[in-house]
Amino acid sequence: MTDFAATRALFHLPQGLIYMDGNSLGPLPLAARRRVAAMLQEEWGGLLIRGWNEAGWMAEPRRLGDRIGRLIGAPQGSVIVGDTLSVKVFQALASALELRPDRRVILSDSGNFPSDLYMAEGLVRMLDRGHQLRIVAPEAVEDALDESVAVLMLTEVDYRTGRLHDMRKLTRKAHAAGALAIWDLAHSAGALPVDVETADADFAVGCTYKYLNGGPGAPAFIYVAGRHAALARPALSGWLGHAEPFAFELGYRAGAGIERMRIGTPPVIAMAALDAALDVWDGVSIGHVRKASTELAELFIAGVETDCPELRLASPRDAVHRGSQVSFRHEQGLAIMQALIARGVIGDFRAPDTIRFGFTPLYLGRQEVLDAIAILAEIMASRAWNRPEFRRKALVT
Ligand SMILES: *Cc1c(COP(=O)(O)O)cnc(C)c1O
Repeated sequence: MTDFAATRALFHLPQGLIYMDGNSLGPLPLAARRRVAAMLQEEWGGLLIRGWNEAGWMAEPRRLGDRIGRLIGAPQGSVIVGDTLSVKVFQALASALELRPDRRVILSDSGNFPSDLYMAEGLVRMLDRGHQLRIVAPEAVEDALDESVAVLMLTEVDYRTGRLHDMRKLTRKAHAAGALAIWDLAHSAGALPVDVETADADFAVGCTYKYLNGGPGAPAFIYVAGRHAALARPALSGWLGHAEPFAFELGYRAGAGIERMRIGTPPVIAMAALDAALDVWDGVSIGHVRKASTELAELFIAGVETDCPELRLASPRDAVHRGSQVSFRHEQGLAIMQALIARGVIGDFRAPDTIRFGFTPLYLGRQEVLDAIAILAEIMASRAWNRPEFRRKALVT
């Protein structure tokens, strides 16, 4: 079994805090402090421009991509790191649409994260070729897959409710209809077993600051299936995706395979933190993480439903259909979450009425979940949330 006491010791977690928001921002891996300090001092400080070659900065997006690839069932050389997830969504979608030139519909669902939908909207407007973004309810996706669909673009785990799509089945259906499938793994990578190759995804994207603990603003990743690697044309054709960036040619020629999904200069300091964060996964079984996460989530659901009858479960009850977060609804959700945070239990709030909790066994244990239930129950019973300062909305919820 994975030793979760050992993985917990790899993180910096402030005393007295119960952290249930690793689905938004993973905590600081202790090794990241050392790695980033060394990077600044020895590499940036000491090597300066020589770091690109001598410290291997230029090869990092590929090397880190391979490390992430192992967590999502992607073969070596099929994943690359860089930019932000929104940018990677745009890239994947632009390339996928070009691979289905005779079709015009992008199919997504109302459980997708808005940024993915906004990026699609912007791309449709820019292409100006009559593409249409069709958004249906999550349960209606399967039936909406018809011969007009060019690309099915979904996030596997719903950021609001934790509902988990069946990636394999929907990808098979998409292919049967002649469409391509793009999967956003923002709430999957590092949370549950993912196998992009077995599921036959055409493209996959994800971020590294949630369950992969890479730090705020850590770079995103993109996977391109081998069958498309040499065909997918990059819409964001930056110089580092060129076949020979340092030939400085006037025209663009796409680089080999996944290299073409690079755009510009990679964030080397952020990649140092991410590299250290990925060390945490050495010796960790994602199957064990999933099992332990499910147990913590079940414990939480049972406790909250017993002790906080005013809260309504917003997540699927059956763990098979749920990612590793649990959400409850209450019209005073914002105030309840702020009262919880004031007492050291950190989850988050998603408008209009959802409070959300992540179950990340790498650093969250059973006793903390029980403590969180007790604190939540006390806040509900005493109506401690009912104070003006808890109703004020901060810039980031
Ligand atoms: C977190 C998240 C994003 C955020 O995108 P950024 O460009 O990294 O800010 C996008 N899509 C999904 C599905 C997410 O969960």
